[in-house]
Amino acid sequence: METKNIKAFGTEAAEAPLKTLDIQRRTVLSHDVEIEILYCGICHSDLHSARNEWHGTVYPIVPGHEIVGRVTKIGDHVKHFKIGDLAGVGCMVDSCRECEHCKNDLEQFCDEGSTLTFNSPDVHLGGQTFGGYSQSIVVDENYVLHISDKLDLAGVAPLLCAGITTYSPLKHWNVGPGQKVGIVGIGGLGHMGIKLAKAMGAHVVVFTTSLSKTEDAKRLGADEVVLSTDPEQMAKYAKSLNFILDCVSAEHNIDSYLNLLKVDGTLTLVGAPMEPLPVTSFSLILGRRSFAGSAIGGIAETQEMLDFCAEHNITADIELIGVDEVNNAYERLLKGDIKYRFVIDMASLK
Ligand code: NAP
Ligand code: ZN
Ligand code: ZN
Repeated sequence: METKNIKAFGTEAAEAPLKTLDIQRRTVLSHDVEIEILYCGICHSDLHSARNEWHGTVYPIVPGHEIVGRVTKIGDHVKHFKIGDLAGVGCMVDSCRECEHCKNDLEQFCDEGSTLTFNSPDVHLGGQTFGGYSQSIVVDENYVLHISDKLDLAGVAPLLCAGITTYSPLKHWNVGPGQKVGIVGIGGLGHMGIKLAKAMGAHVVVFTTSLSKTEDAKRLGADEVVLSTDPEQMAKYAKSLNFILDCVSAEHNIDSYLNLLKVDGTLTLVGAPMEPLPVTSFSLILGRRSFAGSAIGGIAETQEMLDFCAEHNITADIELIGVDEVNNAYERLLKGDIKYRFVIDMASLK
């Protein structure tokens, strides 16, 4: 298969810093689009993967699944994109297309395992897929999203993961007017959760461990903000919430949040710390509560979320950086020192 050499930014080992790498992309096949990458967000999953915290990383790895760019080439049979169009790529670049989940627009739960944008087996070139910290990417058009030209493009990039990962569970659990919804952890995911839950009409209560974020959370759309490290503040919210979206990237106490749910309430985990999270039986039994999880969203739902954000003028709050700042950004992410998403200006990759 014909390939093209491009520059990327990744790492060859869990302990090594990220650096410029040379990688190959396939030249477009008949259903592919080639996208020049303009912006790529930094998700905490990039860091978990680059450092092998989930124990499945194959090196070298090029992270990045919050990709926005412009179409530079299309295959002969591409129907929905033309050269020059804006385009987005999220966490998946392919799936089997035949299982019940793929047929029901739930490609993220593909029985064969969807092909993730990075660190998944690459059926075309062998080896692993390489993500968005790179100059360009080639993806089947069925897994490419349309991007509105109305919004700031760098602020749109994080919607491709942080946006859909919070939108999908908020929709699935019918969040809307008349409901009190808790959002736990104001990082990349959490801050999008606040904006989206508010736009869906819910009353939003935000839980943060960071005193410095309490004022800002209201600007993002929170109706109430709780410092979760203060037991007195937490006690006031016992049995008061219909739904909680937990966006925390590290080990934390789930029970203390389950107890804030009303009868029949649900706590949905989207944060993905590696450590098990213990749950006390009575936190569930007394209140018929549910403890659930959710992973990104399907391709059709990702487009729906992007259209919703364009309609409601929603983008991420970002700090735009060059690739030379990525290693430092990872350190700051671990300290929660980012309001609220790093986005790489890919023009800085030379
Ligand atoms: P992030 O920007 O680093 O945000 C995580 C937030 O969690 C922090 O800002 C902080 O919020 C809170 N936090 C961090 N350490 C904590 C601790 N020890 N105790 C309590 N709170 C803590 O990360 P992100 O990119 O939003 O990703 C969040 C998690 O979701 C990651 O584990 C990521 O891998 C996962 N993820 C899952 C999916 C999915 O499909 N389910 C998709 C994308 C990402 P405060 O300062 O407000 O407390
Ligand atoms: Zn992500
Ligand atoms: Zn499938």
